[in-house]
Amino acid sequence: MSPRGSYTDRIGTRTGRGLNLYSHDFSVLCDLLDRFIGNYFQRAYRAQRIAVPSMIRAEDVDRAGYFDTARQHISFVSPFDPHPAVYDEFPKFWSQRDPAGRGIADFLSAPEEVLTPAMCLHCFPVLASAAVSSEAPTIMTFSGRCFRDEKGNLNQVERLREFTVRENLFIGSEKDLERLHGELADFTIAVAALFGLDFRLETATDIFFGEQASQRTASQMLWDSKFELVALHDDAPDGVAVASLNQHHSHFTRPFEISLDDGTPALSMCLGFGIERLARAVAAAAGGHGLELIQSHLDRIGILDGVDSELKSTHHSSLEQE
Ligand SMILES: [Zn+2]
Repeated sequence: MSPRGSYTDRIGTRTGRGLNLYSHDFSVLCDLLDRFIGNYFQRAYRAQRIAVPSMIRAEDVDRAGYFDTARQHISFVSPFDPHPAVYDEFPKFWSQRDPAGRGIADFLSAPEEVLTPAMCLHCFPVLASAAVSSEAPTIMTFSGRCFRDEKGNLNQVERLREFTVRENLFIGSEKDLERLHGELADFTIAVAALFGLDFRLETATDIFFGEQASQRTASQMLWDSKFELVALHDDAPDGVAVASLNQHHSHFTRPFEISLDDGTPALSMCLGFGIERLARAVAAAAGGHGLELIQSHLDRIGILDGVDSELKSTHHSSLEQE
């Protein structure tokens, strides 16, 4: 396969159930889109850029209430049981299946971590019991891998076992988040318009199609708990959510005891982009030779220049950990 070949032909090569290996062009496209969104939030909102691991402590996921609401998607990570007797017996078990009827769990240690089921869960434990600024919202941008077990519903297109999410998290007062919500809804629509996506918008109470969706602006958007940008293309004729703006209210800030420094409650909200889903929609809208087009769009608005070193000293990080 030529490294500069058409990325619409071989976007994903299946390496496992819901797992893909991506071609050169598709992975470049994913990287461009991820950098574009991260740079936008760093530049327009002075978001702190953070890096998060692929695993998270099970106790933090529990504290976030995830075991109550979405545990069906969670995968625990279990290292080998280091006990020599157990360790030595494993190859025999694996090759023959064990006559004593043991399962693989008998060879593993008790898990302490899970694979990240939702990106923003990483941010709350580091802010636990902290008072964040009431003057301006606390904003972070980060991207990483999310893992979901969709049971029988995995496929190679949209229901992936592992996928990349660029997430932007906002913590602040209700007033600040309400203002931001409108701006974030507008940004999401602008992304769809910039790349010429065929899309609809869904809120918890309404769906807006085509022209109607393009003409929506923040002032017309409901202050709704759910807002999704759903892209339609050949591989997703019924539509696939590529971005989702979620109001958490105090769902995470309360259990982690995060407040504002004026003593009022802190609320949180996140805007996440599913990078592979977005890239597929962008590639479909741009046709076979879209990569250069997309790169030139982004170059034109100057959003791909490095901003990582800019603004370094403006937000000294409450988040640096030893
Ligand atoms: Zn989130």
